[in-house]
Amino acid sequence: MTLAMRLELRAVHKSFGATRAVNGVDLAIGQGEFVSLLGPSGCGKSTLLSIITGLVAQDAGDIRVDGRVVNDVPAQKRGLGLVFQDYAVFSRLTVQENLAFGLKARATPRAERERRLAAMARRLDLEPLMPRRGASLNMSEMQRVAIARALVVEPELLLLDEPMSNLDAAVRMALRTELKRIQTDLGQTILYVTHDQAEAMAMSDRIAVMDAGRIVQIGSPEEIYRRPSTRFVAEFIGDPPMNMVACEVLRDGDSVAVRTALHGPFSAKASNVGAGNATLGIRPHDVRLCEAGSPDAALATVLDVENLGSEYIAYVGYGDAVLAAVVHAGAVAPGDRVWITLDVSMLQLIVGDDLVLRPFSRESRHA
Ligand code: ATP
Repeated sequence: MTLAMRLELRAVHKSFGATRAVNGVDLAIGQGEFVSLLGPSGCGKSTLLSIITGLVAQDAGDIRVDGRVVNDVPAQKRGLGLVFQDYAVFSRLTVQENLAFGLKARATPRAERERRLAAMARRLDLEPLMPRRGASLNMSEMQRVAIARALVVEPELLLLDEPMSNLDAAVRMALRTELKRIQTDLGQTILYVTHDQAEAMAMSDRIAVMDAGRIVQIGSPEEIYRRPSTRFVAEFIGDPPMNMVACEVLRDGDSVAVRTALHGPFSAKASNVGAGNATLGIRPHDVRLCEAGSPDAALATVLDVENLGSEYIAYVGYGDAVLAAVVHAGAVAPGDRVWITLDVSMLQLIVGDDLVLRPFSRESRHA
């Protein structure tokens, strides 16, 4: 089944002087999809969102909503719900009145209005705030009210720009679960802008990763995490981040193998890669402690151990580099000599900036 496209961007460009804020973006979001635009500060996320809303005019390219080009349609007539990071609520109105505002503007009948207000207040835990005036809210409360105010009118297409940036971790986690539920219940289409990968991973059907004005990869959270298509995505996605280890590509006729300072050679299906230096990307979860004598076990020294609460990270010396490995509490201590092995099927071979392969299988161990 193909989804009807709610929002399409084609070859969108925007420069500010010499800065190419958005540099040729194509993106199509289907009916009922939750798509996140994820990237570091300054990569062009907010500019792209402002172009979609009509608050900033693109230099080139088309924006379509439900198949209709809206380039010349003013912001308020594009049929989009919006929440910005610094979206202020009406300070003289109570929270109740703030939430009712959009419904009244749409002449929603009173009974329906009250039903929706009560449901939203309950779902977003706003009941104690309802009688308070906007001016008396702190930033965290204001953001929750801004999100509720956008959701309560049940817009079919909703754009959210870092809407949870002022919330503390516990509130943010509760709210993202609820936001995802509301989106699913109402079948809404959402484009969600964030630099927080945990947020994007938790809620999105697809994530569009942005770097320097371009979308460099778009895919499910699983695809983005497991099969990054560029070095940038490999380094940006993952917390703790992926280890990047120097390796050597060896060629003998058609057969290719890869070795690091301590492991390999592993045979690789990488006929297009020449001999020479490259990089292996290894997630800390794919580095394992093992027994002496296990296949491909290498001896390394633990330099440091970091407690992340739910898991521990051991940092081990690896040639000239340091490798992070996820370990159980108490498994190792600084100074320990440990045997480590790599989950070869999960390794990424990175050549230059753009080529990332998954050329290894479990059999690769026996190169
Ligand atoms: P952040 O998460 O920090 O908001 P972002 O990914 O949303 O970052 P943008 O705010 O879209 O990035 O900015 C992209 C680039 O365009 C940056 O280099 C920024 O300095 C520049 N830029 C954005 N708006 C303007 C403007 N009005 N005038 C000049 N330069 C701008």
